[in-house]
Amino acid sequence: MSYLLVSPATRYDEETLAPMVSAMLDRRGIDWSRKTVLVKPNLLGPFSPDSGVVTHPLLVKVIREELRRRGCRVLVGDNPGVRGYGMVGRMARVTGVDRAAGGDFVNLGLRPRGVEIPSRYVDRVSVCSEVLEVDHWISVPKFKTHVSTVITGAVKNSYGLLVGGEKARLHSLAPRPDRFGELLVDVYALRPPDLVIMDAVTGMEGNGPSGGSPRQVGLLLSSDSGGAMDLAVCFLMGVDPHKVPSQRYAAERGLAPSRLQEVEVESDLAPIPGFRLPSTPARLDPGGILQRTVFRRLSRPRLGVDRRKCTACGSCVRGCPQEAITIKDYPRFDTARCIGCYCCYELCPQGAVRVGRLVDFLRR
Ligand code: SF4
Ligand code: SF4
Repeated sequence: MSYLLVSPATRYDEETLAPMVSAMLDRRGIDWSRKTVLVKPNLLGPFSPDSGVVTHPLLVKVIREELRRRGCRVLVGDNPGVRGYGMVGRMARVTGVDRAAGGDFVNLGLRPRGVEIPSRYVDRVSVCSEVLEVDHWISVPKFKTHVSTVITGAVKNSYGLLVGGEKARLHSLAPRPDRFGELLVDVYALRPPDLVIMDAVTGMEGNGPSGGSPRQVGLLLSSDSGGAMDLAVCFLMGVDPHKVPSQRYAAERGLAPSRLQEVEVESDLAPIPGFRLPSTPARLDPGGILQRTVFRRLSRPRLGVDRRKCTACGSCVRGCPQEAITIKDYPRFDTARCIGCYCCYELCPQGAVRVGRLVDFLRR
């Protein structure tokens, strides 16, 4: 049976977090001494530590120091979804993770390795070599909603092990949210993390993973299973896990429990009052083939740009798997090519991409 450790943590300070992290490492029952360990936060892009978008650098620092105290060789790494690797240095600087990692930060986009993947969408994928080489790896996701996948959790954090533009390629192969959810689990299953420590001190509600609102959750969570962690995230957010495609499929594959009663929860856990979910229809579940077909047509993204916020930086263009965006003064969207993956929304550092949908109007 998987376990879930729940620790109240209302702010980011070392005195609070260090003993919690130490207990989480001990609880996992791994002999960490002198091992090589990869620590992978969720960095997404160049967002500030207090934005609620990225794993807080102080938590990364505490985990690294606790591992080094145990004689580990530590690597801290991620690589963003935008094509091209030039952004990693800026991302690490702006998020504060380069300082938190001391000299241990690695760009996970520089040493790709092709591996076979059991999946009905793709035979081989390109992942970072580091995750295949280390003794253990620790996933450190952020507690957030997601306009397409409903939650951003531990399973989705593993998608960051894909190298650079590989993320965009896989988006194109399984564009529908339910299929993409399967693919997320296929990637996660390549090498599930040995430990998950989730930053839920400050999370994000509404239209995450980058355009929602920071929300004080006040928790640090830990589990030996990414699937059990994401089940707990659903519970806290008030989401039916059966309506989260990745969670449903992970349970089918035996990578996640289907009910919280199947998890050894080592503290009290209660849904967060009034937690706001994405306004996009990803979490809705229309019945019947006809309703689904109509629903999908209605729910195609009506993407727009807030021109006052847009700096024409081009991140959305580089991150679009369909090459559906061109910039003429500001981004223009080719709706015929768009697959509704929301990468442009997710990656915009200014929060300038809007995701209005006709279905939202109809729902209101
Ligand atoms: S919409 Fe955002 S990502 Fe796209 S060009 Fe403007 S600021 Fe950059
Ligand atoms: S325009 Fe945006 S939502 Fe559409 S395919 Fe490109 S990145 Fe995805």
